[in-house]
Amino acid sequence: MFNGKGFQARVICIVFGMLVLAGCVGLSDIEEIDQAQLQRDAVLPDPAISLQSCPVFDQGLVKAMPLPPINDRDGCGHPSPYLVQGWDGAYPVRFSSDAKLNCVMMTQLYRFFTEEVQPLAQKHLGQPVSDIQVAASYACRTRNSKKGAKISEHARLNAFDVSAMTFADGKVVNVEEDWHSYSKKGKFLRSFNRASCKYFTTVIGPGGDKYHQDHIHLDHGKHGRKGTWRLCQ
Ligand SMILES: [Zn+2]
Repeated sequence: MFNGKGFQARVICIVFGMLVLAGCVGLSDIEEIDQAQLQRDAVLPDPAISLQSCPVFDQGLVKAMPLPPINDRDGCGHPSPYLVQGWDGAYPVRFSSDAKLNCVMMTQLYRFFTEEVQPLAQKHLGQPVSDIQVAASYACRTRNSKKGAKISEHARLNAFDVSAMTFADGKVVNVEEDWHSYSKKGKFLRSFNRASCKYFTTVIGPGGDKYHQDHIHLDHGKHGRKGTWRLCQ
């Protein structure tokens, strides 16, 4: 049955195939993205949000301060911006620096951390996240700061970059250092990335491109003809 060269060739083929597969797939805990599934799982922004009303702020759930409208050059800004410091509650989170965000981003961040990140932090590291290292929020610039590119969601106060997080015991998980590792921190970061795709329409981390090796970018921009397509990298 297993005679001669045929069997040998098959073994070589299988071993070679496994090596190629391992190289292509990389970290085995990153699953394939299914667009239909992403849209089914989406946690959409609170429909009660308007320029006059921001329920997470109005109810005191998020520590933030409303700012006057921002109207900067090249269409940058937002009519109803907030300066966000973090939030209290069962699992308080502090931002390393105040973030300028619109109500949708502030709300989605609060919900994402409360509903998904803290349970994931408990699961992987046995404790909650206490601090977020904010790499960027509002910035009047194009995508990836490239000349002639489309305006960035950062310019609409609709984006937030996380470069690291600190846990209750002082341990730090750093996107650049820990993303590619099989450690608990690496697993936490990759599960953070995937879970964030439910709350944000754009997620780009180190699995995305060269511009996102040291942070995870989260935004609530619109993609595709219907504006419902979700980018999860
Ligand atoms: Zn960003």
